Amino acid sequence: MSAATPLPQERRLVTAIPGPKSLELQARKLGAVAAGVGTTLPVYVSRANGGVLEDVDGNSLIDFGSGIAVTNVGNSAEAVVARASEQLAAFTHTCFMVTPYEGYVAVAEQLNELTPGDHEKRTALFNSGAEAVENAVKIARAYTKRTAVVVFDHGYHGRTNLTMGLTAKNMPYKQGFGPFAPEIYRVPVAYPYRWLTGAENCAAEAAAQAIDIINKQIGAENVAAIIIEPIQGEGGFIEPAKGFLPAIVEYAKANGIVFVADEIQTGFCRTGQWFACDDEGVVPDLITTAKGIAGGLPLAAVTGRAEIMDAAHAGGLGGTYGGNPVACAAALGAIETMKEQDLNGKAQRIGEVMLGRLRALQEKYAHSDRVSIGEVRGRGAMIAVELVKPGGKEPDAEATAAIAKACHAEGLVVLTAGTYGNVLRFLPPLVMPEHLLNEGLDILEGAFAAV
Ligand SMILES: *Cc1c(COP(=O)(O)O)cnc(C)c1O
Repeated sequence: MSAATPLPQERRLVTAIPGPKSLELQARKLGAVAAGVGTTLPVYVSRANGGVLEDVDGNSLIDFGSGIAVTNVGNSAEAVVARASEQLAAFTHTCFMVTPYEGYVAVAEQLNELTPGDHEKRTALFNSGAEAVENAVKIARAYTKRTAVVVFDHGYHGRTNLTMGLTAKNMPYKQGFGPFAPEIYRVPVAYPYRWLTGAENCAAEAAAQAIDIINKQIGAENVAAIIIEPIQGEGGFIEPAKGFLPAIVEYAKANGIVFVADEIQTGFCRTGQWFACDDEGVVPDLITTAKGIAGGLPLAAVTGRAEIMDAAHAGGLGGTYGGNPVACAAALGAIETMKEQDLNGKAQRIGEVMLGRLRALQEKYAHSDRVSIGEVRGRGAMIAVELVKPGGKEPDAEATAAIAKACHAEGLVVLTAGTYGNVLRFLPPLVMPEHLLNEGLDILEGAFAAV
């Protein structure tokens, strides 16, 4: 079957990027697809596998994006294709709330086992990350009988009405799309690189400020949930200073607040551990997952303490497609691949290679008057560089955009992120062969030299 035929793991440019066929398709897109649905790189993909994307012009690009941290196991991973194909042929949909099937239950069992903590857990499945976050809020409100939700500076939780409200950044996510849901409160996050009194004070001071705002402006007894990404994704791969997450968890616990870890981007081996919370031994009450869960098929979940998850009445949670059988089969194939191919180990190795080379690059440009890397950060295969104007910390969004564009032209798919648009983020598939990883980093180095 052609879909499962492995592609040559090589970069190959046979036209300009984008090529003529992609440009034709892009013209059709502009005439047919709503303008609000943007495109980072208008290269139209025909096949993808391992560490490469092949386009309609016959180019083969190195993928440092994984479709935004989704194809952790690689595109069309063998076990995903096999299990999903078998399920497609057996049946495609019944609605789990009408006549259930085993795949949904098996995914729930896997999530209950793999997520942090050995307490009794339950899981509910949904279609998208935003839907999972919305349901975590519903569940936390049903359990606590409180309404307020606390989120953080630079946080991203989705594009539906409630999750837009939870998201920090206005452009492009919120501009013109309000009004937003009430009872959402935003507090500081421990962002070491930009903490005014220094990184060493960051965790304790940020936690104290966040807690003070909750106590004084909201009232702890009104807070249903605190929601945080253990490494902030769209916000620029901000790793909260060590100690910050445990301090917030402890506060939540002491005040009967449901602590929700949004691991939609960080989950499923991305950071070199099953979940980013594992790094500091943080055990969330609820955890939201999506993106990497099913090798590219749409699936999302809320997993957490049984007594909290079971607080919503029967019929209160669900959705027509939630936990679709094909997506569940794909998830079981993806999870099997993560275990069998030790993708945590692979992500750790990607992190070693990337951090080493990016820190050398930072050093190389330490005295440049054109471009400067303020910080290299991240864990596993979730690595970023934050670009600043030479001599200070002023964000440099122009250089970031120029470098991303230069990488694209050379056949390397990279994404940008950050509240200030000055972060290059790297999310390669965890099955990326090391020679492609290094070739991608060579291209990045070339792009730095060229700007
Ligand atoms: C992508 C993302 C979401 C939203 O997921 P969708 O599937 O796009 O709705 C929510 N939270 C985080 C941390 C994300 O990275």
